Amino acid sequence: MNLHAPLPANDHTQARNIDLAAEIDRCVLCGMCSQHCPTYAIRADENESPRGRIALIAALAAKQIAADTTMQAHLRHCTGCRACEASCPSGVRFGAIMDAARAMLPRQDPPSLPSQQHIRWLRLYQRTGLQHLARASGLLKPLGLAQKDNLLPPIPDTPSWQAYYPATPGAEPRGDVALFTGCIANTFDRKALEASRHLLNTLGYGVHVPPGQDCCGALALHNGRPDEATQLARQNLETFAKLDVQAIVHTASGCSATLSEYHRQLPGTETFSRKVKDISQFLAEVEWPAAVAIAPLPKTIALHTPCSLQNVLRQAEAPRRLLQRIPRLEIVPLAPNTRCCGGAGRYMLEQADFAQGLRAKTLDAFARVQAQQEIDTLITSNLGCALHLAAGLRERGQDVEVVHPVVLLARQVEALRA
Ligand code: SF4
Ligand code: SF4
Repeated sequence: MNLHAPLPANDHTQARNIDLAAEIDRCVLCGMCSQHCPTYAIRADENESPRGRIALIAALAAKQIAADTTMQAHLRHCTGCRACEASCPSGVRFGAIMDAARAMLPRQDPPSLPSQQHIRWLRLYQRTGLQHLARASGLLKPLGLAQKDNLLPPIPDTPSWQAYYPATPGAEPRGDVALFTGCIANTFDRKALEASRHLLNTLGYGVHVPPGQDCCGALALHNGRPDEATQLARQNLETFAKLDVQAIVHTASGCSATLSEYHRQLPGTETFSRKVKDISQFLAEVEWPAAVAIAPLPKTIALHTPCSLQNVLRQAEAPRRLLQRIPRLEIVPLAPNTRCCGGAGRYMLEQADFAQGLRAKTLDAFARVQAQQEIDTLITSNLGCALHLAAGLRERGQDVEVVHPVVLLARQVEALRA
């Protein structure tokens, strides 16, 4: 396959504002990325490796091959974990190449984010006992709804946010930060968002939660809808630009990763990108006031590291550093903790075979650490991973709490303040 055939100019490369030909040209076909690729680990097929996918994308862009079903499947099987990018000695920006490639494929239905109306119905479905009845009836499986139902966590109430939460009275003032609440995260990661806001106030930060913010755009960007992603990025940039804050924090590392790369979609917005911090990173870096005591937690927990935190934000160690603030807590990493668990946004629904295969590998790693010691808590800092892993644990009949590091820390702070 000739990677270096001239590519026609095409506006799909606007997906990441990249020169696709130049990006592909960086790849020297060394194959050093393949050993880090989760889909290659499952299939051992070159077309399911980063190098193979780059070759397919080059041929597609040069119109040497058509986007037939098989070719599309190889590209859509990519989880977007970017382990290949993090391990590439030539600095190939695989994530940007893949986003541009997806924009060249036939468009799929728009990302199906649950609307507020859907969320209200789902909450009713759970609280009226309908979910229990549906599960007991055995009808969900034949109707093809069992996997979606199993992914559904208990849906909390989602009261509106105030635009601003001042620092807790008596705390030494440290300035202001902004909280990005996201779309799905605003409901499904609500506990982590509330815990973050609460901890930040307790530490002396005022917290802005600007009402004009919208989805980070990750689902659109990674699913061939760059225009929609750019529109969302503009909306968020405009909303947060009005605030004088030290940092813009978020709890789901997948969204934080997208926010931190807005400057790649819209050059000139580097100031915003530099301010974006995953909440674990922000809280691990701040000086902790002696007045905010943390109750000891004499137990062992397992720590999962999301790909977005590791390969994009390059903050793999942040949750561990943060949790080390809790006295007597023992933290055991999942080993090997470098491959994608298959959550990956819509991937867990649309590529169910791959997603479940990858999840099984992660849960097997968890079972291995459980075999060494009693562990009933799995920590992860990305919402998609949390939903996907919790569903897998339920399927295995395991009563394990999957929880965000900030929620655990906030509990230990509250334990001494109650
Ligand atoms: S993407 Fe990087 S590591 Fe992978 S084959 Fe190309 S140059 Fe080698
Ligand atoms: S992004 Fe992840 S799944 Fe996709 S090719 Fe790279 S390593 Fe493989």
